[in-house]
Amino acid sequence: MDIHFLGTGSAYPGSERENTSICFSNDGCHVLLDVSGNPCRKLKQLKVDLGDLDAVIFTHFHIDHIYGLPSLLWGMWLEDRKKPLRIFCDYRNEKKLQEWLATMEAYKWPIAFVIEIETFDGDREEKLFACGGMTFSCFKALHSVPTAGLEVRCAGRIVIYSGDTEINERIGRYDHIDMLIHEATSARKVAGNHSSLVEVAGKYDLDKIEKIVLVHLSDKEPYEEEVAKLRTAKVIIGEDLMTKRV
Ligand SMILES: [Zn+2]
Ligand SMILES: [Zn+2]
Repeated sequence: MDIHFLGTGSAYPGSERENTSICFSNDGCHVLLDVSGNPCRKLKQLKVDLGDLDAVIFTHFHIDHIYGLPSLLWGMWLEDRKKPLRIFCDYRNEKKLQEWLATMEAYKWPIAFVIEIETFDGDREEKLFACGGMTFSCFKALHSVPTAGLEVRCAGRIVIYSGDTEINERIGRYDHIDMLIHEATSARKVAGNHSSLVEVAGKYDLDKIEKIVLVHLSDKEPYEEEVAKLRTAKVIIGEDLMTKRV
């Protein structure tokens, strides 16, 4: 499974990073997790064809995770996409999503592909769907609004994406995680609704985790300094347009 990082930035405007958005790809299936700035360009740079994208999953409805959707749909329409696009969101955001699509007036362009909106309850553990040998499930993240973390299983591997969250005891329960993609809005500062690098490295058992990729990163935070103190190659500071294979 390839994991493409379209963006690795936090909600704060960054100079080097788009807001966090990640594409999981395996065996011809491509699933985009949240949609941030200029998604069409980023997907092309990462060699993911817009026509091949199967699904979008929204972890939550904060602006930094959703605002790229109009641009994504517009680009797909211009490229004459025909394949249906599945969009998954928490049931509490379905009305907002429907209203947003109506505001875009996509029916007037008109979009020639079907948009299938599917809802989940982000407060519960739920299998969302399977595609290309990957299985996507959600679990409750600890954030200021309903937010899902994601578990992705593929060929015996487990990848966990934290979502926007405080340190989550649910993530600590795994016996083994091949890759933990975790938010670190700050390097050291402990603040509600989010995590710091120091908390991620200190509160999860690193012996049970093969690799940690930090995302949702903010400018001017001393991430490198804190990673150096850990004296491990396990913790990677995420960068836009990198791809990791798991
Ligand atoms: Zn965010
Ligand atoms: Zn958020």
